[in-house]
Amino acid sequence: MNPLEIEVSVIIPIWNEAQHLSQSLKTIVGFIRQATSCFELIAVDDGSTDETWSVLGLARAEIPELEGIRLSRNFGKERALCAGLEHARGQAVIIMDGDLQHPPELIPKMIEQWRSKGVKIVECVKKVRSKETLGYRLGTKIFYGLIHKLARQDLHGASDFKLLDRQVVEAWAKMPERITFFRGMTAWLGFARTELEFEVAPRIGGMTGWNHITLVNLALHAIVAFTSWPLRLVSMVGMISFVLAIILSIQTIYMKIAGIAVTGFTTVILLLLCMNSMIMLSIGILGEYIAAIYDEVKGRPRYVVSQRTWEDSADRDILKHKETDMVNFKTGSYSLSAQNNITL
Ligand code: UDP
Ligand code: MG
Repeated sequence: MNPLEIEVSVIIPIWNEAQHLSQSLKTIVGFIRQATSCFELIAVDDGSTDETWSVLGLARAEIPELEGIRLSRNFGKERALCAGLEHARGQAVIIMDGDLQHPPELIPKMIEQWRSKGVKIVECVKKVRSKETLGYRLGTKIFYGLIHKLARQDLHGASDFKLLDRQVVEAWAKMPERITFFRGMTAWLGFARTELEFEVAPRIGGMTGWNHITLVNLALHAIVAFTSWPLRLVSMVGMISFVLAIILSIQTIYMKIAGIAVTGFTTVILLLLCMNSMIMLSIGILGEYIAAIYDEVKGRPRYVVSQRTWEDSADRDILKHKETDMVNFKTGSYSLSAQNNITL
């Protein structure tokens, strides 16, 4: 298909979803077809260790619009999304999960809103969180509360299920950071947007790729990427303890001069404990930012592509692809061109 004719690209990051992948893809394609016939479906295999890549190959026989990108290892959903976005050619790009937790029946509505309302972003907002534990719900509340207070971005209920106009995708491609937090980045970009509510469906099969540690990591990345407030907090705590130190020093000197100084062993221990933990916490916060700076200055690519279902110069428009490659270098993605010509 001529790239100029592609109206909608749908990007699906996939990690070890072989069991139910072909069913998910068929369901999703069914709903896309209700809205448009000029589309491409890009499945990004995020270094799956199961049969995902070969299932994708088989699915291509039934879904001609399906293209696959295989990353050289598991880079995480955020990076897989980057790969998909940098390869998408549609005038609008829809991002969704491959486990049908993002209801595909919303796709025609999203496309319709984009076409008729002229909005640049159609956000799908979670209404009810299915089967989430109290701990998880509390965790997300605290995290989004922090992001809201610190970075002034209201991401309550935000999901990665959204439609982006080409203009937004181009603007996003100019954001060169390696530490990406997709939903925060699109919120930062602005543009006219509209919201659609959806209920998170239960997973069609398999297991979620997230655990407590990866979720806390994502939350830390997001906070560090979006605000430098924790650093200022360190300075503020420093100032407050400096004022307290002056007051306490004056009191101590006065008591010494007045000859009423007591041994004060408990006070010394408490002060030591408080000050030490505050110092350690501050160093930890500084460390998070230094680690983020270190990751950024290393300038490594966001992801590495090991295989694609198309050749550089064949199926796809050569000129467009050259442009993409240049963008890829700027934004930090890298393709192993020598291995591109691999059929499934
Ligand atoms: N995913 C991915 N790489 C990963 C983890 C997940 O591409 O390292 C994909 C996964 O296949 C799914 C989507 O990201 O299509 C959402 O993942 P998951 O269902 O595990 O997350 P949850 O719905 O629990 O937030
Ligand atoms: Mg899921």
